Amino acid sequence: MKTNYNEIINKLDTINPIRYAKDRNFINGSVTKLSPYISRGIISTKSVFNFLLEKGYSLKSMQKFVQELVWREFWQMTWIDKNINEDLRTKQKDYKNIGMPKKVNDFDTGINAIDNSIKLLYNTGYMHNHLRMYVASLVTNIGKYHWKTPAKWMYYHLLDADWGSNALSWQWVCGSNSNKKYYANQDNINRFTNSNQKNTILDKSYDELINYKCEGVFEDEINLNLKVNFPKSDIFTNQNEKPICIYNFYNLDTKWRQEVDANRVLLIEPSIFNKYPISDNSMKFMLDLSKNIKNIIIFVGEFSDLPINGSDVYFKEHPLNFNYKGIKDDRDWIFKPEQGFSSFFKHWNYVLKKLAY
Ligand SMILES: Cc1cc2nc3c(=O)[nH]c(=O)nc-3n(C[C@H](O)[C@H](O)[C@H](O)COP(=O)(O)OP(=O)(O)OC[C@H]3O[C@@H](n4cnc5c(N)ncnc54)[C@H](O)[C@@H]3O)c2cc1C
Repeated sequence: MKTNYNEIINKLDTINPIRYAKDRNFINGSVTKLSPYISRGIISTKSVFNFLLEKGYSLKSMQKFVQELVWREFWQMTWIDKNINEDLRTKQKDYKNIGMPKKVNDFDTGINAIDNSIKLLYNTGYMHNHLRMYVASLVTNIGKYHWKTPAKWMYYHLLDADWGSNALSWQWVCGSNSNKKYYANQDNINRFTNSNQKNTILDKSYDELINYKCEGVFEDEINLNLKVNFPKSDIFTNQNEKPICIYNFYNLDTKWRQEVDANRVLLIEPSIFNKYPISDNSMKFMLDLSKNIKNIIIFVGEFSDLPINGSDVYFKEHPLNFNYKGIKDDRDWIFKPEQGFSSFFKHWNYVLKKLAY
């Protein structure tokens, strides 16, 4: 995965929003793989949107793609407003386990497309959106597991780990953040993953699948050990008493506050990573991306441990920065309405109107 800023920006030129609308659900479709950069805050949804407008795409021609960017923003706004660590709209129905099924962790579900996608996740930190939905559905709706522990497992390995998109998508699949549970049968998986598997536990009609008891298949649980290996801290004493710009897992924006002569600090708070653990690959990806920020200092510790010495502190708004004190800059949104909407499509229709005029 590329981590050089110019190479990342060059990737924007490869987006094809027209083809995207037709084939994004297929495993080999024209998806962009930009989410690791958007999630780490090195580029924003708005900058991607503006890039495409400037390239000459009309809103109409790229509507499906923009809708996906707006889904991301909707999840972010929901994270700001609500406690997304709890079942959001209704309690998840019919779950029996609260851990992580061993067969899924060990890519041993017997569904080849799913097992291959889990191997790919471990090796590369990437999983296609449709496969994420298949995995989440298998775990929660077929295996009858509560969404939260498996969501943490997936977040741990994803390079685009973002708790807003992650937790809320798991909740959407298992029905605690939607009107109904999401199911995919083997025919559906075969169609979108170019496979032709038969006789799996999902090789059923939808009526059969929804009523399927699946006893004994996913009962073995694994004791997840989502260990975080922290990097070494640089020495930061703030002797020069310059302003401090705080970067973190969700803000690695190289263009932010460049006019300020500041100490630029990548703050890695153990309290956050112990609650939302990430893999070595994901940690390395963040550190490699941070090298795009000139003279950045790595500080492993809590915000309250920083030697602020009366300096001005700048940071970007984010739900995990609730404990920061200083000057809070807004994030770049494509559009952020004054009021929150109860459903994505209400939000989307409102945003669409605003963008069109
Ligand atoms: C169970 C589950 C877990 C997920 N966990 C994460 C996560 O931890 N981090 C994360 O960024 N996304 C997550 N997603 C959303 C989505 O799968 C990824 O954003 C998308 O697959 C990223 O690949 P891409 O950049 O090629 O997307 P593209 O299809 O090229 O889309 C372009 C951009 O639109 C946004 N986007 C696309 N699809 C979605 C979506 N369904 N929801 C929200 N935003 C979307 C992303 O910012 C993405 O970069 C999850 C989805 C599911 C079903």
